[in-house]
Amino acid sequence: MDVISVSREASQNQTQLVWKGEPDLGGWYTEEEVEAAETAIRNSMDWRRGFLPHQEITSFETEFAAFVGGRRALAINGAGTGLDMAMRCLDLSPDDEVISCALNFPGTHLAVLGQGARLTLCEPDPVTLNIDVADLERKITTNTRAILVTHMSGLAADCNAIATVAARHAHPVHGPIKIIYDVARACGATYDGHRLGAEGWINVFSFQRKKLMTTLGEGGMIVCSDDETSRKLDQLRSFGAGEGWGTNYKLTKVQAAVGRVQLRRLDSMNAARVRRARLRTKALSDLAPIVQLPTEREGYDHVYYLYCVVLPDGWTRQRRDHLIIEMLRKYNVECKVANGPTYWENRLIRRFTEGQRLPLAESIGSRVICLPLHPLMTDEDDEYITSAFRDCLKLEVARRGCDLEACY
Ligand SMILES: *Cc1c(COP(=O)(O)O)cnc(C)c1O
Repeated sequence: MDVISVSREASQNQTQLVWKGEPDLGGWYTEEEVEAAETAIRNSMDWRRGFLPHQEITSFETEFAAFVGGRRALAINGAGTGLDMAMRCLDLSPDDEVISCALNFPGTHLAVLGQGARLTLCEPDPVTLNIDVADLERKITTNTRAILVTHMSGLAADCNAIATVAARHAHPVHGPIKIIYDVARACGATYDGHRLGAEGWINVFSFQRKKLMTTLGEGGMIVCSDDETSRKLDQLRSFGAGEGWGTNYKLTKVQAAVGRVQLRRLDSMNAARVRRARLRTKALSDLAPIVQLPTEREGYDHVYYLYCVVLPDGWTRQRRDHLIIEMLRKYNVECKVANGPTYWENRLIRRFTEGQRLPLAESIGSRVICLPLHPLMTDEDDEYITSAFRDCLKLEVARRGCDLEACY
C-alpha cells in the first residue's frame, strides 16, 4: 500500500486521525478575527454605500509594507496569483530562462512555465534545503532573466549571496537579472537583522489556510520595491486600470480586516511555533547522529513553517515512504514530504525539465520528512509525535537491509 492510500484510509476514519500532516493543521484564529470580520460586514450593511473595500485593503497594505520594511504592498487573492503577476511583469520570451531550486512548491515553477519561459533547476543546500548559491551561479547563462527563490521551510535563503551573484551577470537586452522571492512559508522571518519581504525585485506572500498567517482560507500580498513595476502589478490586479491588460486578482474587505488582526498577532504566533520546534529538536537531539534535524543559522530567524527532518544518507525514497506509512498506521500521525523535486509531483514540469539532472535534489527529496508542528501543540502532543517518530525510526533502522515489500 502506498502513502496516499494509507492516508486516504486514515482520513475516512476521522475518529482515528490524530494528527493532520503539517502544514495541513491550519491557522490559528481568535475572537478578535471573528469580531473584525463581523465589523467589516456590519460596516457594509448600508445599501447606499455598499461593500466598498478600499479603506480596509489600503490599511492592510500600508501596515504590511511597514511590517516587512517594503516600499509598496498590494493585497491579492493568493501567492500563486502573485507569482503569475511577477512573471508577467518580466515579459518573458520562449528563450528566456528563470532559475529556481528543484526542491520547491510545484505551483512556484508552474508560474514560470505559465508565461512560456524555460525553467532551469538548480540544487539545494543540503542543510538549509534552500537554493544552493554556487550551483545557481553555474546555471546562469546569457538567457537568464530572473532567479526565483523560495524560503523553503521558514528559514531565509541567503539573500545577500544571491544578490551578489545576480549582480555579477546581466541579460544582454534586458539588463540586470531580477530576483523574485516566494515568501509564502516565511512570513515574519528575518534575515541579516531585518524582516524578509523587502529584498530583490518582488516578494510574494501567501495567507492561504495553511500558512503562518491566514485570511479566511485564501489570500496573499506582493511587496515590490520598484514604483513602475508596482503600477504594472496594480493594473494586472484590476482589469488593466484603463492602461492595458489585467483581470481581477483582488482580496476582499473581510479578508483584509482579518489579515490586519493576524498581522498584529503574527510575531506571537510565530514565537510559539519556534518555541515548540526548539523543544522538539532538543528532545530529538540524541537522534542527531542518525538523522539531520532542522538547524538555525546566525543572523536568521527560522519561523519553522515546516519541521523538516532529513533521513540518513543512502536511504531510498521507498524506505522513507515506509516510515511515513508506519507513522500513520501505528500512530495516526501524518507526515508530509515538503518538498521533493517539483518534476516528481507535476507532469507538466517533468515534460519541460526533461534532461536536467539534479542528483542532490533527488537524494534529499527522497529522504526529507516533515513532522507535524503547530504553535498550539502542548508538551504532551509533542511528546506523542516525537515518541512515534522515535519508535518508527528505530524499527526502520532495525529492518535495514531487508526488502521492504517483503516485510508485509
Ligand atoms: C502555499 C505556497 C504557495 C501558494 O500559495 P497560495 O496562496 O495558495 O496561492 C506558493 N509558494 C509556496 C512556497 C507555498 O508554500
